[in-house]
Amino acid sequence: MTDRYAVFGNPIGHSKSPRIHALFAAQTGQDISYQAILAERDGFAAAVSAFIAAGGGLARGANVTVPFKEEAFRLATRRTPRANAAGAVNTLSFEAGAIVGDNTDGAGLVRDLKNNLGCDPGGRRILLLGAGGAARGVILPLLLEDPAELVIANRTEETAARLALEFGRLPGGAVGVKPDGMGFPGLAGRQFDLVINATSTGLSGGILPLPTCVFAPRCVAYEMVYGRETPFMSQALAAGARVADGLGMLVEQAAETFFIWRGVRPQTASVLAALAKVS
Ligand code: NDP
Repeated sequence: MTDRYAVFGNPIGHSKSPRIHALFAAQTGQDISYQAILAERDGFAAAVSAFIAAGGGLARGANVTVPFKEEAFRLATRRTPRANAAGAVNTLSFEAGAIVGDNTDGAGLVRDLKNNLGCDPGGRRILLLGAGGAARGVILPLLLEDPAELVIANRTEETAARLALEFGRLPGGAVGVKPDGMGFPGLAGRQFDLVINATSTGLSGGILPLPTCVFAPRCVAYEMVYGRETPFMSQALAAGARVADGLGMLVEQAAETFFIWRGVRPQTASVLAALAKVS
């Protein structure tokens, strides 16, 4: 009676999630299967339904990756507050007729920063580059860590300004600091202790017009893409920053998802080390 899980994406062949969850399951003694499923671009909901139907009651959940995170948000019949804040879902849990949507990307980033990199976002001046889905998913978890400031800078300035406004209005004093939104020219003369690249230039190879001064002494520069040295990482290294890629975020978001599904939190260090060897 093995519980079944899957990750849906398009493309999906590159996904490390089946390996990560297999390592977590072996480590914690959980009896699960986890497969990668290529969904047609217009067939995500149908693919999820087919997976649930084929599971005979044993399909328990799924991860969702590019380009289906927004569609997964709409497919969910119930969503967590962090999924609502992100406007996207990367984790689905199938519970007695309900589909619960969550987003573990931001928690994964924060855990990687704090536990693996010794870089607590609390009290730091943070610069978040980009205002797309990945940026959106990490804003609330970063704000909840109580940074000294959070600046969102984006090529299209209005998108950054809109995001800053939206997250500055969170109810109930949940977060202490209100984010600021700007275009790259607004960064002239500014310094930050943590700079996170959430633009897709890590994949496309584009160079961001960043003034060198943004990297304060002992700054940590975090690239969400993994497995290669990106132009952002080269810029940050040249400016003397400590640089990390997004492999830790990937493993930590998977650990958070595993915890949601199985109620047990796997150790990530050995999994991260095993993946780093082959990436
Ligand atoms: P989106 O397409 O939603 O957003 C892309 C962002 O990049 C926008 O802000 C866009 O700016 C900006 N951008 C694109 N090209 C350029 C350029 N040439 N110069 C400056 N800015 C540019 O992508 P996502 O937010 O979904 O993903 C961003 C990255 O994060 C991807 O590389 C993805 O792989 C990575 N990621 C990593 C994860 C992990 O676990 N490690 C998890 C999730 C994502 P504009 O608004 O002006 O178009």
